[in-house]
Amino acid sequence: MTGAVDIGNLTVRYAGATALDDVSLSVAENEMTALIGANGAGKSTLVKALAGLIRPDQGTITVRGRLAHVPEGREMFPDMTVDDNLRLGGWRTRNRNTAPVYDLLPDLAAIRSRRAGSLSGGQQQMVAIGRALMADPDVLVIDELSLGLAPMIVTALVDHLRTLHATRELAVLLIEQNARLALDLCHHAYVLESGRIALHGPAAALARDPRVTAAYLGGH
Ligand code: ATP
Repeated sequence: MTGAVDIGNLTVRYAGATALDDVSLSVAENEMTALIGANGAGKSTLVKALAGLIRPDQGTITVRGRLAHVPEGREMFPDMTVDDNLRLGGWRTRNRNTAPVYDLLPDLAAIRSRRAGSLSGGQQQMVAIGRALMADPDVLVIDELSLGLAPMIVTALVDHLRTLHATRELAVLLIEQNARLALDLCHHAYVLESGRIALHGPAAALARDPRVTAAYLGGH
């Protein structure tokens, strides 16, 4: 395997319970890959292992290049401006130049001086994506893009991600409860069920798979 991210035979156990069981997954370079699954399937555990926050019991994780993470819940500094929140994303790489991010996400330029805490959920999600881009990543891990956001806002975010992906060479791993959105946006997808990869393949094929439509797409 030679993807931007290769996860091989990953197993994570919490006291007694197995959260991930022999999970293998690849994110191809310059592609968008989705990980979908119900509550408790193990998605957060996989993101934590990828971000180095928990140590797997078994398996390997290989990331080629720099990985940046858009965390579930955005995690803004609410009293700081959008501009300062973005700069925090460039802290590790000593990048203070926000101009390229404003070029990629022009909606952010209009709100650059606003307090992050005064923004809508959709705007905050955009700031969280911009902040991750400040690290000049090769791989972007987006945890629950659509959580808590109105459908119209999600559509706008998806448009931005499509443009971003067309403009910049970037591998994206999208962890998402909204399977329809994930399969529509991404090239490949993995379905996680009770800690195991139940299905994977091209997103378009999974979107037509009766097992996926019945369990994740409301039977349509
Ligand atoms: P959600 O969408 O609700 O966050 P998830 O797919 O991210 O769900 P995980 O949070 O990764 O799922 O949890 C996977 C399994 O591991 C669940 O059964 C959960 O109860 C269990 N689990 C998660 N964290 C811990 C922990 N710290 N200690 C024990 N069990 C845990």
